[in-house]
Amino acid sequence: MASARFDYDVAVVGAGPAGSGTARSLAARGYRVALLERDPGPGRPVHCTGIVSDECFERYGLPASLVIGSVSSFVLRSPSGRPATIRRRSVQAHVLDRVGLDRWLADEAVRAGADLVTSTAVDDIRWTGDGVRLSLSAGSAPLTARAAVVATGFGTPLARKLDIGSSGELLSGCQAVVEQEGVDEIEVFTGDALGAGGFGWLVPWRAGLGLAGLLTRKHTMHRLNEHLARLRAAGRIGRIVERFRLRAVPIGLPDRTVADGIVAVGDVAGQVKPTSGGGIYYALLSAEIAAAALAEAIEAGDVTAAGLAPYEERWRAALGTEIRQGMRLRRLIEQLPESAIEQLHRLLGVPVLRRVLVSAAPSLDWHSSKLTRVLERLDRHRDAAPASLR
Ligand SMILES: Cc1cc2nc3c(=O)[nH]c(=O)nc-3n(C[C@H](O)[C@H](O)[C@H](O)COP(=O)(O)OP(=O)(O)OC[C@H]3O[C@@H](n4cnc5c(N)ncnc54)[C@H](O)[C@@H]3O)c2cc1C
Repeated sequence: MASARFDYDVAVVGAGPAGSGTARSLAARGYRVALLERDPGPGRPVHCTGIVSDECFERYGLPASLVIGSVSSFVLRSPSGRPATIRRRSVQAHVLDRVGLDRWLADEAVRAGADLVTSTAVDDIRWTGDGVRLSLSAGSAPLTARAAVVATGFGTPLARKLDIGSSGELLSGCQAVVEQEGVDEIEVFTGDALGAGGFGWLVPWRAGLGLAGLLTRKHTMHRLNEHLARLRAAGRIGRIVERFRLRAVPIGLPDRTVADGIVAVGDVAGQVKPTSGGGIYYALLSAEIAAAALAEAIEAGDVTAAGLAPYEERWRAALGTEIRQGMRLRRLIEQLPESAIEQLHRLLGVPVLRRVLVSAAPSLDWHSSKLTRVLERLDRHRDAAPASLR
């Protein structure tokens, strides 16, 4: 354990999934942990759809009370609007109450023994030679710890100041709560109107409501407005009830996620699926890896960048291939003309190819093996495709 000279063993900055997950794991190991959140409480303001795979849901023992809906199928719409329903036998994913998820994770950290300090932004973190000193907002006295976890999400001044995380490549996403009746399947939209490689969604949510949004490279608000207008014109949605904030999503592997006394976890470290922009599961996985590496470094008495390097090595071993392959897939899709996407969509109309595409996609989270398998199996079934698609 760390010496009593420090206020805490570890100060975790940001009470999103990455920060609360790390704080929970460290506190459960008996470390003195401060979980510092700039907003008045975890979870707000909300920006995210809250979809996690069943694998993530089970692994972290998330409570059923957070589930708004469970998903075993979704409708994929081609650029021209043609639907194809992708159905699996078992539940694949859950739409969670995202505010509730963040609160639950922060509560779990507190139950494990962490101190949650809200309405407190960390403005700077300085290495002092054997620990860190955190400058807090609003004139609060600085806080000391053996090490700090930067889990501030993407685009915060703190991460920029520390020059940690982010490859520099970005998507941005935004969504709105809309009136929506009689739809019980998630719909995913594709096409140039959503930007190259961009996609839109309409997700059944609470009673009479849905979430309509999109993730794309640029012109996000303009494209969201057009997406909403198209859905309204088609009679798919009614009134817009609330708009969430625009948020950047970093994609690609960053140069470094460790510095003397500091590790970066979650969005700030680019631990996000480059294809879908989903980051909750990777944040929780990386939080586990960070907590274990921090505990080892503290016990070994070396929290320098060298002592914390195992975190960097282990999370890259766990997620690096996925993120690299996800970037390749994203670049490929971004280069495809709309007509090619329309044609690829037609493959789903060929029964044997549809079976290949659906059965070779075992997981929402691990895309690299899926991509390789789909391409290999499609190659084996080339003769089944219409001549125009070969
Ligand atoms: C439109 C949209 C939809 C999405 N939908 C999904 C989805 O369905 N499924 C999915 O898996 N992912 C989704 N994501 C991505 C997901 O929201 C993020 O990957 C996830 O929130 C990352 O968690 P995090 O803990 O790293 O960061 P965050 O959730 O951003 O948490 C960071 C926390 O740090 C706090 N903070 C920031 N700076 C400071 C500071 N200086 N001091 C103290 N506190 C600070 C913030 O207030 C915040 O509470 C979506 C993203 C967008 C934009």
